[in-house]
Amino acid sequence: MPLHRATPDTDLPLTIRPQLARPGAESTVPRLRLPDGELPADAAYQLVHDELLLDGQARLNLATFVTTWMEPHARKLMDECLDKNMIDKDEYPQTAELERRCVNILASLWGAEHEDGATGCSTTGSSEACMLGGLALKWRWRERRRAAGLSAERPNLVMGANVQVCWEKFCRYWDVEPRLVPVSADVPHLTAAAAVEHCDEHTIGVVAVLGSTYDGSFEPVAEIAAALDQLQATSGLDVQIHVDAASGGFVAPFLDPELVWDFRLPRVQSINSSGHKYGLVYPGVGWAVWRDKAALPEDLIFEVDYLGGRMPTFALNFSRGGAPVVAQYYELIRLGREGFRRVQQESRDTATWLAGEIATLEPFRLLSDGSELPVFAFALRPDVAGYTVYDVSEALRFRGWIVPAYPMPPAIEDLAVLRVCVRNGFSHDLASLLLDDLRHAVSKVEALAGHLPVPTADTRAGFHH
Ligand SMILES: *Cc1c(COP(=O)(O)O)cnc(C)c1O
Repeated sequence: MPLHRATPDTDLPLTIRPQLARPGAESTVPRLRLPDGELPADAAYQLVHDELLLDGQARLNLATFVTTWMEPHARKLMDECLDKNMIDKDEYPQTAELERRCVNILASLWGAEHEDGATGCSTTGSSEACMLGGLALKWRWRERRRAAGLSAERPNLVMGANVQVCWEKFCRYWDVEPRLVPVSADVPHLTAAAAVEHCDEHTIGVVAVLGSTYDGSFEPVAEIAAALDQLQATSGLDVQIHVDAASGGFVAPFLDPELVWDFRLPRVQSINSSGHKYGLVYPGVGWAVWRDKAALPEDLIFEVDYLGGRMPTFALNFSRGGAPVVAQYYELIRLGREGFRRVQQESRDTATWLAGEIATLEPFRLLSDGSELPVFAFALRPDVAGYTVYDVSEALRFRGWIVPAYPMPPAIEDLAVLRVCVRNGFSHDLASLLLDDLRHAVSKVEALAGHLPVPTADTRAGFHH
């Protein structure tokens, strides 16, 4: 069953331009079936290239947290490594070595006490890394239950309703009850008290997010850990934490070194982060790190050949490109601590400046200001009528900007917001151009107020966290 079904009106054949078609040869290519014959390489290239002109400009895509600009040197290294398969540790031992170094660097960056005690791996992104973190929690919970002679049925995972969709996927695919803690308009993410209230003996762990995809806010990991310490002291329940630091893992250590959210908290068992978000690498690479060997059950680990020996791996995929891992290592040694600080500070400065300017525009109010992740969300003031954030988003699209509008998480989903992700390469100059265009977009939709189509479930469903 294909996930993308053909609709009849897209079944027209593709046409090859006259200069590229071979004289006398077929000048069309079927769209939805494998062509019988071959095409010259330049004709095939042009067909694909031209069609992709309709994609948005990645750099103007402010919906994504994912890297859209890298230095040419990084691109060159990626190009040199496009043919390397990450799983072939035996054939590409130096790529494997760079992955190992990255894990060590990240483990110590995230406060692991004994660098050689921590363990981890690269993944395709945070989604896979979250699956691995969640599996380890589930396995360990089950071991503890069985060792105590208790039922290991009906596991649940406690997390804010604002979690990224990968956690709902994890729960569905691995048969864990998602305990989504409702969030409020005042605090649109998980709080310590609410997390503890939802825990019981079937809880495999609590997921704390650094930071939330909805508004860029950091969840109070240290407070959640302290509340779980308290819970253990009073009830004996020992509930561990996984930190989903998809974005924050490469921001907080550089901009907020005093913020304690990582392995410095003994209750934090594992951390994931997306190398392809604020790790500054093109997609797709993510990282999963466990605080020590005890945090990662051995029966989840498989062995692959490595330099005549065996090397442990933990992954959902087998084959995967090595290039993003090499690029991650490049970024780490290229920038170092000071370089990362400068780059992330620039993004935060741009985000807070832009948020401050938008706050002064008549129809808007801020939900966050870009001072945690360099990401902020803003909504229309309650008294604004006749148009919605969806209309503003569409008006911005006219100039090429992709600024998504979407509803907040369950319980506060009546509130629709716009979100801007500031990333490396979205300069202050581009931000001021966006601001001008936002002013124009507002006057345009204000002029049409009351005459715009009401957004439907379809137009609202276009964006997923
Ligand atoms: C982006 C994100 C994910 C998913 O990460 P991918 O790298 O896109 O797979 C998970 N959690 C949070 C908090 C995120 O921001």
